[in-house]
Amino acid sequence: MQSVGVALCEGYDYQRVEEVLHHLIDTTSQINDKLYPGAKVFIKANLARPDTPDKAVTCHPSVVKAIVTYFQSKGCTVTIGDSPGAPHGFSKKTLDTVYRATGMMQIAAETQCELNYDVSSVKVYNKKNVRMKDIQVISAITNADFIISAAKLKTHAMMRFTGAVKNLFGVIPGRLKMQYHLEMSKYIHFAQTLVDICEYVNPALSIIDGIVGMEGNGPSAGDCCQSNLLLVSDNPYELDAIAAKIIGINPEDITVLKEAMNRDLLTKEIKEIPIKGLDLDKINLRPFKAPDFSNLNQEIIALPEFNSDLCSLCGQCVRSCPPRALYIEENRIKFKSNKCIRCYCCQELCPNSAIEIEKYQRNVIF
Ligand code: SF4
Ligand code: SF4
Repeated sequence: MQSVGVALCEGYDYQRVEEVLHHLIDTTSQINDKLYPGAKVFIKANLARPDTPDKAVTCHPSVVKAIVTYFQSKGCTVTIGDSPGAPHGFSKKTLDTVYRATGMMQIAAETQCELNYDVSSVKVYNKKNVRMKDIQVISAITNADFIISAAKLKTHAMMRFTGAVKNLFGVIPGRLKMQYHLEMSKYIHFAQTLVDICEYVNPALSIIDGIVGMEGNGPSAGDCCQSNLLLVSDNPYELDAIAAKIIGINPEDITVLKEAMNRDLLTKEIKEIPIKGLDLDKINLRPFKAPDFSNLNQEIIALPEFNSDLCSLCGQCVRSCPPRALYIEENRIKFKSNKCIRCYCCQELCPNSAIEIEKYQRNVIF
């Protein structure tokens, strides 16, 4: 069992974030013993969409920059990257748009770190995996000596919670994520896939930016929630379990963490995980609002609903829907509900927060 470090950080002032995060890594993680000059570090930051940092969808640039400078101070070469969930695919143009909006270009200019523009992918194999032994991943991670999962503290409509483990779904290149959603349309199968991916990536360090998290209809249509927390661990499952507990979610209610427990990757005795830094009992944080629908009761059939007042008919949801359940006709979004696999990619990628998840079914949304 490894430690989870938890610290208060009251805002995104860079000097403060750097001071808190570097101290937290030094006091929580064993990674320092493994680093060597010239080691290649890849920071898989949560850069799911081209949103600005104030939206709390992506990992904040102050946090990513503090991770970059930590490893640069050890003589490592650092690359930031992600394969965003953009319906246009994993392309240099998509990456350029995302890096610019999320503040990563600014970090690269300030620190001289690299931004990943390699859009190739490779098939990798892990015989210990349960659901997927062969996984197609972005090539950039296979060239790294150390991979860091830099996640955001958020609730998630499909998986209830997203942290360091779910963040690693971003190593699946572009639109292939849609196919994985389609092939693993049952929650348990998708959760098993997320654990398989995490086991292959094997992040050397995981960090959650919880200074401002997202509650409600995360991972992108929820509300910002100021939590003033940074969390660090060498174990992504333990990190997510403690983060979930802090925001009021029982780790056993998160299918991904339950799967990790079943594989003995995470203890069932969450209270026995050693905590460094803040005493959890002294964190006075109200529980995060849950998504309008979460998969706690998987008997509920919850379908997306589209708000015509907010919809700009941009078509992102149509291009992002794995089973092609959505289409535009007569200037309206139409919906084949019998095809929907409840992955909520449409809600995640809608730039106008025009999609909600409801507990009843309609054949035509508007
Ligand atoms: S619902 Fe959202 S993603 Fe879909 S077309 Fe309308 S604005 Fe675009
Ligand atoms: S309509 Fe939305 S929730 Fe349903 S399958 Fe398509 S993207 Fe997933």
